[in-house]
Formats: sequence, C-alpha cells, structure tokens
Amino acid sequence: MPRHLLGIEGLSAESIEALLDLSETYIDTSRSLVKRRDVLAGRTLINIFFENSTRTRTSFEVAAKRLGADVINMEVAASSVKKGETLLDTAMTLNAMLPDALVVRHQESGAVSLLAQKVNCAVINAGDGQHEHPTQALLDALTIRRRKGTLRGLVVAICGDILHSRVARSNIHLLNIMGASVRVVGPATLIPTDIDRLGVEVHHSMRTGLRDADIVMMLRLQTERMSGSFVPSTSEYFRFFGLDQEKLKVAKPGALVMHPGPMNRGVEIDSAVADDLKRSVINEQVEMGVAVRMACLDALMGGRRNSVAGVV
Ligand code: ASP
Repeated sequence: MPRHLLGIEGLSAESIEALLDLSETYIDTSRSLVKRRDVLAGRTLINIFFENSTRTRTSFEVAAKRLGADVINMEVAASSVKKGETLLDTAMTLNAMLPDALVVRHQESGAVSLLAQKVNCAVINAGDGQHEHPTQALLDALTIRRRKGTLRGLVVAICGDILHSRVARSNIHLLNIMGASVRVVGPATLIPTDIDRLGVEVHHSMRTGLRDADIVMMLRLQTERMSGSFVPSTSEYFRFFGLDQEKLKVAKPGALVMHPGPMNRGVEIDSAVADDLKRSVINEQVEMGVAVRMACLDALMGGRRNSVAGVV
C-alpha cells in the first residue's frame, strides 16, 4: 500500500531531514548538462489541478520528467467542478487508469486527503485550500538550510496574509518540528483566530516582528479567498506591512527575504527588495522546488520507498 504526502503536520524531523538530503542530490542532477535520472522510468504521474497554478504544476512536471516518468496534466477549471461526489468520481476514474501517483491541488481544505483515501496510488498534496502545501514548506526549508546551514535556532518571521495561507501553515509546522522559532506578522484581520495552537509569536507591527529575524518570509494577499474587506486598501497595506528596505533594516544584517510566489509587487513587497540579490532568495526557492519534488516523487513512487523514514 503506497503512502502519501498530504501535509507537513505529523512528519518527523528525521523524515524531513531525509527528504532534504535526497533533494540535495537532485540539485546536482538539475545543474548537470544531462538532467535525467531514470529512477522513475515506466511510472505514470497524473497532475490534477482543480485550482490554477503556474509554478507548482510546472515544477512537478519538470521534476517527474527529470526522473524519467510519464506525466499527464489535467487542468480542471474550478468552476466546472462540483465538490464531493464529482471529486471522488474523478479520483476513481483516474485511479482506474492505474497511475503510480497523483499530484493534486484543490480549493477545499481536506479535499486531497479525502481523495487519497479512495485511490490505490500515492497522492501528493500540491495545495488544498487554506490547509497545507507541503512541498512549498520543504523547498523553503531546503533553501534556508543551504544558506544558513541549519534551521534549528533561527528566527523566522512569516508576514502578511497568514489567515488564507496554506504556505504559512505548512511552514509553521515544519519550522516548529525542526527547532526554529516562528513569528507571524500581520494585521489582526489576517491572523487566524486559532493561532495560539500553532506555537508561534504573533506581531502586528513589522518593526517588532522583523527585529533580529534571520528569515523574512513574505506572503501574497490572497484576495481570491477573501469574502469581505480584510484591509482598508492595498496602498495602506503596503505602508504598514509591505516589505521595503526601510522595514528590513531591523532584521539581522544577513537576513534572507523569501516569497512563495506569485508576488504582488508594491502590495506585500517592494521591487527594490524582491530584486536585491544580496537578500532575496526568491528565484533560488523556485530552483529548490524542482529538487524537492524530485525527492518526494522518488520517495513515494521510486525504489526508495523503504528508506525515507516516515513519509513512505
Ligand atoms: N503559490 C502559493 C499557493 O499556492 C502561494 C500563493 O498562491 O500565494 O498557496
């Protein structure tokens, strides 16, 4: 029975380290002239995205192809899909085609794990509603570990729309498991009411939230998930919570700036910071994304199914 990667919550520090170590080897593969390792030759992966995606879907496709798998992409417009039965019918149909793995994104929290219960193949969560986006947290961790040597003891400030962000939730779990200390920074309207259960410090000002931080992780205002007015205006939001060089000054001198993308320049981040290669590792995150997804696919679909403890 294959296992799945549905979230970071519940993973052990050892399995996270093992996945990051395996990802390191795939950075080398991706940087080689010949980027192909045939560890998944003959395996089939179906990408099924009920919600739009550019980088995540492409990243999984590149990762699977670099490992020699056959990849099929199914794009499903969210509007044409009904919840519940239709999702499960789709899952059963795909399951009957005997894929080795499904990579699934869905707009409802919990939908991917529901689907995973119904199929025989491995399922990877590529983002479910506001719940989790595990490969994003893993690629962020890989980026940080390579730059800082470790995650343990680092102060990480996750800033902006925490409420609607599956990236924030997966990162909070991962960073806590790995011994970093996590702050969330944002207006009260964008901080979840159950934040106390997540083991983070809460700040409503960038000045205190970023003080002496090692990592400043910016999040997009997820207006597509907002059903009312959560911020007065985007210019007002930028004034208080947008990251610019001035606000960044209170962080540690070598602090790294991260963003999962897509970025809204001038809303949550100023271009001068986003494009400052001394600080911003945003493009590196994208590169690490491919390596991490290669590692996850290998761990779940390949011959290492017994060696990456906890995940498989
Ligand atoms: N790409 C990330 C996600 O799918 C972050 C975002 O959309 O802002 O959650």
